[in-house]
Amino acid sequence: MTVYSKPGTPGSLVTFKPRYENWINGGWVKPVKGQYFEDISPVDGKPFAEVARGTAEDIELALDAAHRAAPAWGKTTATERAAVLNKIADVIDANLELLAVAETWDNGKPIREPLNADLPLASDHFRYFAAAIRSQDGDHAELDNDTVSYQFHEPLGVVGQIIPWNFPILMAVWKLAPALAGGNAIVMKPAEQTPVSIMVLIELIGDILPPGVLNIVNGFGLEAGKPLASSPRIRKIAFTGETTTGRLILQYASANIIPATVELGGKSANIFFSDVAQEQDSFYEKAQEGFVLFAFNQGEVCTAPSRALLQKPIYESFLSTAVERTRKAIQGNPLDTDTQVGAQASNDQLEKILSYIDIGKQEGARLALGGERVDLGGDLSGGFYVEPTIFEGNNKMRIFQEEIFGPVLAVTSFTDYDDAISIANDNLYGLGAGVWSRDGNVAYRAGRDIHAGRVWINNYHHYPAGAAFGGYKSSGIGRENNKLALGHYQQTKNLLVSY
Ligand code: NAD
Repeated sequence: MTVYSKPGTPGSLVTFKPRYENWINGGWVKPVKGQYFEDISPVDGKPFAEVARGTAEDIELALDAAHRAAPAWGKTTATERAAVLNKIADVIDANLELLAVAETWDNGKPIREPLNADLPLASDHFRYFAAAIRSQDGDHAELDNDTVSYQFHEPLGVVGQIIPWNFPILMAVWKLAPALAGGNAIVMKPAEQTPVSIMVLIELIGDILPPGVLNIVNGFGLEAGKPLASSPRIRKIAFTGETTTGRLILQYASANIIPATVELGGKSANIFFSDVAQEQDSFYEKAQEGFVLFAFNQGEVCTAPSRALLQKPIYESFLSTAVERTRKAIQGNPLDTDTQVGAQASNDQLEKILSYIDIGKQEGARLALGGERVDLGGDLSGGFYVEPTIFEGNNKMRIFQEEIFGPVLAVTSFTDYDDAISIANDNLYGLGAGVWSRDGNVAYRAGRDIHAGRVWINNYHHYPAGAAFGGYKSSGIGRENNKLALGHYQQTKNLLVSY
């Protein structure tokens, strides 16, 4: 067990600056209107830094810088860009603990997550796209004896990127790595709930990129996000966030006829077939662990397995073991490496979760675990903590249909294969799903029949850089990770040459 020191206290790896300006043209730039907002740590509920409150004027400055930088950056070779991406990956790896403390303090997640998952994945993403851009080939075809068609990948130019608060650094990196590899200049707006950890990353990597290639403007959705997403000066907008905001982003993009990728909400079904409990062996243990994952990262994961579907013969026994296992999940100081459940990212999010717990009770769902706000006492007393909560009910209830984005699980039973697929697909969203079965045919068939962009079979919550990730239905348009993401940041040039 290691407990990292609170930022700014003796022995801590991190001392935040009292104030973070925007990062434009390779330097810190004060907001044009001179306004700032407070970043509040969910760990103790207290403000810890001020952040530039960007507006349309700051977005314009950032776009000016990006437009100046884009032509030269777009003409660099794949090898040159790959070297830059690899250097960024090295810096992340060398500063893993520092970045993990910053991310935990900003977002409230248990430090084991950024240390063991988010940040190693972030550096690996840069390495993956460094390799992907170097191995990308053009294409040519001899159309007849005199004519050859040549196809090239060209950068889009200047792109906008807007990210959410649940994985501040990793969500930024999922967008930055393919965009930079593809030769684009970027204006990014982080989430107003978690702006600082990205700025700590920029302090470390900002100088690796030529000035203006990456610009960050902080601020609120309507004040800074909308001017960016609706600007006629970007050639693409990439967004991750709520489905309702995603709809607006698509409208802005259509006005300028630019492509938009939108990675949106989810309500993932985690399906457990009866044969899982055939033996109480390591497979069974793994499935139990897969069930409890709904509570990790406080359920603030777009693919959180927030609906559990248990086949009738194992419903009671599997659930009672899983409830006990969830009860034992360690909730505590997010800076403690033993902690498994940390703080919700903001007070608003905590209130939203508590209101859904009320809705579940009013709908007649049975509360099997949790349901209350948690006061961890001492210095953490003001933090945003809630108990992992398990409801039993049916798929028509709002707690089964709507994204709560907290450690709240909705459990129901199913009779047979068709019933499981029908319940899983009876939802607006189609981002992720899980299938647990010892029968490879059943698991494979379910994986194909579920309407979701990612189905984990006999595992859950792995995000390797090479595996395409994105939503079906209202969960979004486009893919992140995998070489497919590069395609979202390039356009095809065809030269038709007569000889
Ligand atoms: P949100 O939509 O409220 O905000 C996301 C970002 O959009 C923020 O930076 C915000 O400032 C900005 N924004 C808000 N209104 C805007 C507007 N009108 N124009 C431009 N920008 C605007 O979402 P959130 O609450 O920060 O994030 C949680 C959501 O993100 C959940 O629904 C979750 O499922 C989703 N998510 C999806 C994925 C995925 O890959 N599909 C990954 C992580 C999170």
